[in-house]
Amino acid sequence: MKNITIVGGGLVGSLLAVFLAKRGHKVNVYERRPDPRKTDVYAGRSINLVVSHRGWTALRAAGVDKEVERIVVPVYARMTHDRDGKLTRLPYSIDERAIHSVSRGELNKLLLSEAEKMPNVALHFGHRCTGVHLDTATCSFHDELEGDDVAVPADLVFGADGAPSAVRAEMARGRFNFSQEFIEHDYKEIAFPPNPDGTPRMDPNCLHIWPRRYFMLMGLANIDGGFTGTLFMPHAGEYSFDRIADEKDLMRFFQEHFKDAIPMLPDLAEQYFRNPQSNLAIIRCSPWTHKDKVALVGDAAHAIVPFYGEGMNAGYEDCKVLNDLLNAYGDDDWGTVLDAYGKARKPNGDAIADLSLRNFVEMRDLVADPRFILRKKIEGRLQHLHPDKWLPLYSQVKFTDIPYVEALREGQRHDRIMEQVLAMPGIAEKWESEEVEKKAMELMEG
Ligand SMILES: Cc1cc2nc3c(=O)[nH]c(=O)nc-3n(C[C@H](O)[C@H](O)[C@H](O)COP(=O)(O)OP(=O)(O)OC[C@H]3O[C@@H](n4cnc5c(N)ncnc54)[C@H](O)[C@@H]3O)c2cc1C
Repeated sequence: MKNITIVGGGLVGSLLAVFLAKRGHKVNVYERRPDPRKTDVYAGRSINLVVSHRGWTALRAAGVDKEVERIVVPVYARMTHDRDGKLTRLPYSIDERAIHSVSRGELNKLLLSEAEKMPNVALHFGHRCTGVHLDTATCSFHDELEGDDVAVPADLVFGADGAPSAVRAEMARGRFNFSQEFIEHDYKEIAFPPNPDGTPRMDPNCLHIWPRRYFMLMGLANIDGGFTGTLFMPHAGEYSFDRIADEKDLMRFFQEHFKDAIPMLPDLAEQYFRNPQSNLAIIRCSPWTHKDKVALVGDAAHAIVPFYGEGMNAGYEDCKVLNDLLNAYGDDDWGTVLDAYGKARKPNGDAIADLSLRNFVEMRDLVADPRFILRKKIEGRLQHLHPDKWLPLYSQVKFTDIPYVEALREGQRHDRIMEQVLAMPGIAEKWESEEVEKKAMELMEG
């Protein structure tokens, strides 16, 4: 059994600790921040997350899914809010399948507690990784409380330290490919409190979106009846965070674009000016591993934009794949396991990065576009009539384990087919006809 250091006790590091400890390894998790169960490290930047199929598969494999089920809210549809407050409900699947909304902070706390239940796991908070000797799997940490510097030798190191990974930075000193691309949009959390009697102000089983082409507001339910809202908007330009300097600008902006949200946000201005504005970047790198000593997991390996709600799910799938490889090759041949892990996951990390950018465009512009809504209806019908042949891209990503690479390829094929279907004369009137179904299936099989 190995002595393993995990750098980062966030969403992925805490789940990986459970997986590895259950296999009998001795696990030490070093987390830069204080213990979130004792200090509110998530205030104003909690951001709700969606757990979907891949996430559940991994949580189940780690034996913690039942605990997580207690803190989630099922979400069956998108609910778009237009400028006049008109609502349109768009189900995520034809068979009422749900994704699940969860508070990032609550999930992190739960998984840390699950890890801590294991006698072979130790959690060290307030320890910032400052360097890694890759060949000897020795990490250096700065103890933020005591001010000491400590060197921790181990058999293996996992970098689960998120997008700004110190472990990855160390790997980047050698032969290492790296790219970081900021998108023009930043985001800010804006919470919708519950009604005074504790009931939700909107349908909690929908993801609420106010898509406005250049920017959008989103809301996901919490178990307490409130919603965590997120405003995504360019950092500079005509519609941007830069243009909102004071309460007057803010209220004018909300009056014009998100009027129906105003009565649900009694402390909008206070929250807006208090909560931080954060940026979004896509990080791609390779290799993800160093010999039989070091591996990157989660955002440290593949930070993506959040528009498919898959970053954490992809990170959880990393953990599940690692666990499966350990089942296949045993717990002693880490050289083979890490090599196979990198080869299996890297192409999928790239594919989910591409898919997430694609969904950004879909959420921002297309959800409000009648052609998009028509396409969804036609695809839903095709899936209903030919469930073995037509599985929409969204369902492949959110409701199956189909590798992201394959889902992306299939999604691009669907685009080409639907382009021709939507070009059929009179399609808006005859979308439910046999003619449309036949044409789509011919193209699918052709
Ligand atoms: C607005 C937004 C919405 C999102 N929505 C979704 C969603 O709906 N579904 C989904 O699946 N994903 C979503 N994501 C993505 C998801 O948040 C990330 O993919 C996930 O948090 C990655 O987990 P991680 O553990 O790899 O990294 P992190 O959660 O970033 O955790 C890394 C941890 O490492 C610690 N750390 C960092 N540096 C050091 C160091 N030097 N030493 C020690 N510790 C260190 C950090 O303090 C942190 O606790 C969203 C992201 C954003 C920004």
